[in-house]
Amino acid sequence: MQTTRRNILKLSTAAGALTALQNCAPSDSSGSAPAPSATNANPTIEQLDQAAAAPLLNLDGITSPVIIDSIQLLQRGKEQIVQVRSKDGAEGISFTNGRPNFRAVLEDRIIPFFIGKDARLLESELLFALYRHRSNYKLQGLGFWSAQTWVEFAILDMLGRVAGKSISELFGGGVRKEVPFYVASGRRDSTPEEEVDYLTQLIEETGAKSVKFRLGGRMSRNQDAMPGRTEGLIRLARKTFGDAIDIHGDANSSYDPPEAIKVGRILEEVNAVFFEEPCPFDHLEDTKKVADALTIPVAGGEQEFSDRRFRWMIHNRAVDIVQPDLHYYGGMIRSLRVARMAALAGMPTTPHISGGFGFVYVLHFVACVDDVGSYQEYKRGIERYKDWFEPALEIKDGALSIPTGPGVGIKDIKAVLSETKPIA
Ligand SMILES: [Mg+2]
Repeated sequence: MQTTRRNILKLSTAAGALTALQNCAPSDSSGSAPAPSATNANPTIEQLDQAAAAPLLNLDGITSPVIIDSIQLLQRGKEQIVQVRSKDGAEGISFTNGRPNFRAVLEDRIIPFFIGKDARLLESELLFALYRHRSNYKLQGLGFWSAQTWVEFAILDMLGRVAGKSISELFGGGVRKEVPFYVASGRRDSTPEEEVDYLTQLIEETGAKSVKFRLGGRMSRNQDAMPGRTEGLIRLARKTFGDAIDIHGDANSSYDPPEAIKVGRILEEVNAVFFEEPCPFDHLEDTKKVADALTIPVAGGEQEFSDRRFRWMIHNRAVDIVQPDLHYYGGMIRSLRVARMAALAGMPTTPHISGGFGFVYVLHFVACVDDVGSYQEYKRGIERYKDWFEPALEIKDGALSIPTGPGVGIKDIKAVLSETKPIA
């Protein structure tokens, strides 16, 4: 069974993977190594490394150094913003993933490193130099990579504004203009009936054609959130929504393989799209056992922070869909490298993201990756930001539009910055 499923998956994504590799290559001829040009159902470690290492950023048109002069963390209501400025007055901002406990890493390890550096060297030199700087590699993990991401996103916003290109265009861009999404429920305190009511509300509010709900008890050693909730919810969701709504299930590390396979079979019965994080997220061998046993695609990787472990997951097909979190994994460049490796192996990359402004970064990411799976994660919030963009961001037929303006696409960052204050 597993061989058939995986072969089908590989065959169905092979053509798309080739396009993806081409689309994320810079269009210039500045001596960069070309992107790998073929999909390989069983790529070697060397081939995966080569795919990940191929240059991504196209900085055509930025002919003078963009020297970073200041980086500052700012508060805007409940949100935090990172602002970067160049010596010549170029500017960019990013939104954090709301993890203020990573601030010390940002201020102690990351900001001082970037001051005085040429932002154009971000991909080719700076990210690896930052990793080595003051032995930062010893801090490798979600805290370090999140803080790096805040700065990377702000620098990409600045470079995009200088080049007159959107962030996705800096990476090739243009793969798609709209992004079908699932709306995600974050609840486990609900009975199946309450949860289906809640999902119905989310669908009505957002126009989603797909949902994701939580299974199991969250890192719970097979305990359900309440007796019978998981099986009851999966079946009731399908019965209530019929075939009109696609279903995703996320176990948040709840199960060992036997229990995960049992739950996975129920998801297969209702024809769910994927089964996310069935086993403890870093138990890659158990996750692979589940993926091998089931026909439903297993998705995972939102808490992965090592490029070589992602490479292992892809090389060994521990999952069927990789899910780097754009913040937790260290930003667009690192996450696109995972997508490059996945594409070579014929696997979709469906990025993970926290709420707030985060979905905008997913829109840029999926605009330059061919095979991103059927739906992207959306946790609501477009109403707070849509009018900052020109044209305004919108949802149509269960899909989000992609920003087209320079940088992240916010047309007036001064207006956003005018509502911020320095963090004391
Ligand atoms: Mg998840």
